[in-house]
Order: sequence, then C-alpha cells, then structure tokens
Amino acid sequence: MQRIHLALIAVIALVSSFGTVLPQAHAQQKYVTIGTGGVTGVYYAAGGAICRLVNKDRKTHGIRCSVESTGGSVFNVNTIRAGELDMGMTQSDVQYNAIKGLGQYKDGAFGELRAVFGLHPEPFTVLARKEVNIKSFTDFKGKKFNVGNPGSGTRASMEELLLTMGWKLQDFSLAAELKADEHGPALCDGKIDGFFYGVGHPSANIQDPTTSCGAKLVSLTGAAVDKLVKEKPYYAYATIPGGLYPNNPTDTKTYGVLATVVSSSKVPTETVYAVVKAVFDNFDEFKKLHPALANLKPETMVKDGLSAPLHDGAMKYYKEKGWIK
Ligand code: GLU
Repeated sequence: MQRIHLALIAVIALVSSFGTVLPQAHAQQKYVTIGTGGVTGVYYAAGGAICRLVNKDRKTHGIRCSVESTGGSVFNVNTIRAGELDMGMTQSDVQYNAIKGLGQYKDGAFGELRAVFGLHPEPFTVLARKEVNIKSFTDFKGKKFNVGNPGSGTRASMEELLLTMGWKLQDFSLAAELKADEHGPALCDGKIDGFFYGVGHPSANIQDPTTSCGAKLVSLTGAAVDKLVKEKPYYAYATIPGGLYPNNPTDTKTYGVLATVVSSSKVPTETVYAVVKAVFDNFDEFKKLHPALANLKPETMVKDGLSAPLHDGAMKYYKEKGWIK
C-alpha cells in the first residue's frame, strides 16, 4: 500500500513537472505561412527560397515555414488581413493601394499592413502568339486576351492600364481570366492570342511558351504608360533584355513594379525577425536560389517599393545591421 502510494506521488510529480514543461515546448513550435502566386511564377520560387532558409535554422527559433500557392498579390494581402496568412508576396502597387485605401482598397485601407522587404522587379510582360502578328499592345483590340485572374496583382495592374488607355474588357473579343499557370498552355493552344503578366525574370512561365511555340514578347509603351509612370510612384520603366528567352532576340520595352514581402502588425515581432534574419544572414545563398533574385541588394530591399510601415520584426533586424536609423 505504502509502495503504491509513493509510486502514485511520483507519477503525480512527474505529470505536474511535465505539465509545466510540455505546454512550453509546444508553444515553441511556431508556424509561418507565406502566400505566393502560381507554381510556375517567381513568387512561389522566392517564397520557397525564404522558407528553405528559415527552416534551416529551425532549431534556434522553433519556426516552421511553409509556402502556399495562391491567386497572387491581392489575394495575399486580403488573406493576411483576414488573419489566415502570416506573410505574403505582393506587388508594390497593390501594397501602396492597400495601405492608402486606393484602387481595389477604396472601401477601406488595411491599416495593419506592414512591409518586410522588397524583392525583384516585375516588368509587365505581354506575350503574343506567334501567328497573330502583334506589333504593339493596341493590336490586341478585338483579340482573345488574358487579363489575369481576379485576386492577382497582374489583374489589378491590367485594370489600371486599361482604364488609363480608355479601354474596357469588351474591347477584346474575349477577356480571359486564366491563372498564370494556365496562360502559357492556353497561348500555345490558340485559346488566347496574348496575355499580360507582372512577373520577375527569368520566369519558367515565360520560358515555356517562348520555347514551345515561339511566343513573342510585345513592348508596352505609349501615352498611357508614360502617364502612369509619371503619375504613380510605384511604376517605373523597365526593359526585358533581348536574348533572355528563346525566339526573342531584341530588347522589350515596358514598365513595371517591384515584388515585395508583407505581413500584418498582428504577426509577432519574433516571427518576422526570424524570417528576415534567415534571409539576410544567408544572403549569398538566397540570391542563388532563383535567377530573378540574383541582383538583389540589401540596401535597396529595405526601402524600395515599401509604402506600408516596416514590420517591427524587420525594423529590429535592419537597425541592428545599421541599414536604417
Ligand atoms: N505579380 C504577380 C501577381 O501578383 C505574381 C507573379 C509571380 O507569381 O511571380 O499576380
């Protein structure tokens, strides 16, 4: 009897000591999910690169990072706002509109939106089927054109361009809303004559149709583009270098935005700090994980394209590094 009693006390002591240890150990396993874009785009690859570096150091910070393929920029910001994603990639124009309550956010700014860092440039990339003989963007009038899926940054920027040009979706014979993963095959199959896509370069998504059906890059220039670049702080002229993709030996002039990583002020400082630290402590490795990341520089990444306030976790790391005051 005495022995059972003692054993019981021992068990209780053990359970209660675990009781204080286990929940803590559990609380240390944290998760961070990054919203990206289609799997053939650059966001998905860049998100994968970030998570790979975060997960490499999991033993020190206890955070498990995963990426989610999504509909793109606007979807990511909205899902962060709903508290269902911790971080996400978004175009700099979408970030600007979200924090200021403009454009697609005119019904309410997302005041808790926080910037983390900027990434690669995303020139607006127009691709045409070889057979349709398109010389400039206006030649797409009356043609089958993919304007991007709702929720993508691509679509948001497309709408701003069409508005500035005084065009409507009805100006195309078909305004398709295919996701980025679908537009290359649709182009080569003749289901669409062209598409518009805001993406970093090189991108598998542009590589495929230029290789498999000789699709042609189309310059995006003219009065509407000049007006947008002049009036909007988030737009800049851009050039896609000739020879980057098969069957496209000459430079393509266009304009574009920057890709950025964002979060919410509701996401803990330690979480964002760990993500930022993983990227910048392993920066040479990060740049090698996708060719579109190869030319990134920390000094510009902490400010260019960032219109929302910096997240506290990012600010902490950048101050430690002396990159910001
Ligand atoms: N910028 C695109 C968008 O938000 C996504 C590009 C990518 O997935 O690399 O629609």
